[in-house]
Amino acid sequence: MSFITEKVLSGERISGEEFLQLAQTKDIHTLGFLADSVRKRLHPDKTVTYVIDRNINYTDICISACKFCAFFKAPEDGTGTLLTHDELEVKIRETKELGGTQILLQGGLHPDKPLEFYEDMLRFMKGLGIHVHGFSPPEVCHFAELSGLSVQDVLKRLIAAGLDSIPGGGAEILSDRVRQSLAPRKCSADEWIDVMRQAHELGLRTTATMMFGHIETMEERLEHLQRVRDLQDNTGGFTAFIPWPFQPDNTALALGADIQKETAFGYLKMLALSRIFLDNVDNIQASWVTQGPKVAQLSLFFGANDFGSTMIEENVVAAAGVHFRLSEQEIKRLVSDAGFEPRQRLMDYTIV
Ligand code: SF4
Repeated sequence: MSFITEKVLSGERISGEEFLQLAQTKDIHTLGFLADSVRKRLHPDKTVTYVIDRNINYTDICISACKFCAFFKAPEDGTGTLLTHDELEVKIRETKELGGTQILLQGGLHPDKPLEFYEDMLRFMKGLGIHVHGFSPPEVCHFAELSGLSVQDVLKRLIAAGLDSIPGGGAEILSDRVRQSLAPRKCSADEWIDVMRQAHELGLRTTATMMFGHIETMEERLEHLQRVRDLQDNTGGFTAFIPWPFQPDNTALALGADIQKETAFGYLKMLALSRIFLDNVDNIQASWVTQGPKVAQLSLFFGANDFGSTMIEENVVAAAGVHFRLSEQEIKRLVSDAGFEPRQRLMDYTIV
């Protein structure tokens, strides 16, 4: 352990084996200290950033039926919805009135909307003058499959219609054993990485997420982090990494297995391990939407340098029974109270 500690403190990269050794410790103080040293090296000033945005879920109709998802409606269910342009416009205007700069646009995997539908949606949204951070890799793969086009052609068309950047959703755990068990209809780990690689090569910046604390092993968490780190070494296209724990309420997975909610200890530990391992990803986001304001504030001492989004609207975590809400003023107070300087940012982390 002391050898790994010295390595981290001297700015050296740790190996997968060393990650697994670190992951065994219950010494949360040392993990926090090490993660904080990495954060300080990458962000020597006291800035903690946040973005003002809104999650818009254009549809909850989805053919994937992921076992961990409490949000989707099966197409045959008949209760799912698809937002109209008018509804999109109201949401975007409200966001802009609150100082918002971007929309996180994601939806279920709709069974039959053609690619032109998404291109129209993007053109309409861009006409209202907002950054569109949209369509996670499973959606891009789904559009490619439905349209018979390559992922590259789908990305090029979405970019031409106005797509600005891609959120890292749908990564869950980038290990095919886990994906096959929890979300067999969704893209594979290789496909998720490939969409991100191609997006980076086409000049888009993207984020990466990890949803942990369900059926995965620590080795599979490492596999996930290793894939993100390897791609980042090649492309440098990830702006941020956002780890957050599985929220079990109202999900099929929680009904069929004895899975308990991740503790604050487990969250902070994984956050710190991510900060230490992903030495090439500049920003790590706290997940106040799953952890609440108090643990999110503590996360600033466990590797996080970004408070994420104000999330004027959020539906996916809320469907799993978790309803934390924070205003911009509350985010600023939490950040300042912890001794940092809150600064509003854009998707690419430039300061507003
Ligand atoms: S996580 Fe996404 S892809 Fe999976 S069921 Fe929910 S909406 Fe569909």
